[in-house]
Amino acid sequence: MLCDEAEGMADLVTIVLASSNEGKLTELRSLLADLPFSLVTAADVLGDKLAVAEDGDTFDANAVIKASAICKATGLVALADDSGLEVDALGGRPGVRSARFAHERATDAENNAALLRELEEIDDDGRRAHFRCVLALVTPWSFSQPRTVEGRVEGRIARDPRGSGGFGYDPLFIVDGRDGLAMAELSEDDKNSLSHRARAVRAMRPLLLELLETQLSEAERVAG
Ligand code: IMP
Repeated sequence: MLCDEAEGMADLVTIVLASSNEGKLTELRSLLADLPFSLVTAADVLGDKLAVAEDGDTFDANAVIKASAICKATGLVALADDSGLEVDALGGRPGVRSARFAHERATDAENNAALLRELEEIDDDGRRAHFRCVLALVTPWSFSQPRTVEGRVEGRIARDPRGSGGFGYDPLFIVDGRDGLAMAELSEDDKNSLSHRARAVRAMRPLLLELLETQLSEAERVAG
C-alpha cells in the first residue's frame, strides 16, 4: 500500500505552502504532518516572500491564483489556502476580503472590531456565519489543471471576543455543537478536528496520496 511504501521515504515530495499567514501555516503543517511531504514556504525557497495580487472574486479564484504563482516562481508543487468568514446578515461579507475587512493593512483585532460594529444592531438569531476554506493544488506538470477542494464550518458571531487560541476571527466565531465556545477557546487539536481548514485538508487527502503515488512510481522508474 502506498502509505506503507512511502513510510521511511521521508520528505518524498516537497510542497510549497503558498501563504505567509502564520496561523494558516501552523495549522496546515499540523494537518499534513502524517504525510511524507517536506513542507516549505515560498520564502524558504526564494529567500523572500512573493507578493501575489489576490484579486479574484471568489475563494476558488484566489487559491488558484496563489498556488499557480508560487508553483511558477519555484518550479515546485504548490498548495494554497484561501479562506475567510461569510456572515449571513452581511450578504456573505467579509468573504474574500476577510483579511482586509477594516482596511487594506488591518490587524486581526481591527477586523474583529469592525465586524462587531457592523453587527451591533443584529440579534443572536441573525448572527449566523460560516468559515470557508478552499485549497488549491498546482503541480509543474499539470500547471493548467489546478485541483481545488473546499471545507466549511458553521456557527454564529459572538458579541465580544473570547479565548486566545487560533487567529483571525476565531475569538468571535461561536462554533455549532461546542456548547457555545468560540473557536479561539478550543484546543488546537479540537480546532484541527472540525475547522473549515481541517475539512478541506481531509477532502484534499486523496489528491495528495495520488501525488505521492505518482512521485513514488517516478522515483522507482528512475532508480530502474
Ligand atoms: P487570506 O489570506 O486572504 O485567505 O485571508 C484569510 C483571512 O480570513 C484571515 O486573515 C482571517 O481573517 C480569516 N480566516 C481564515 N481562516 C481563519 C481561521 O481559521 N480562523 C479565523 N479567521 C480565519
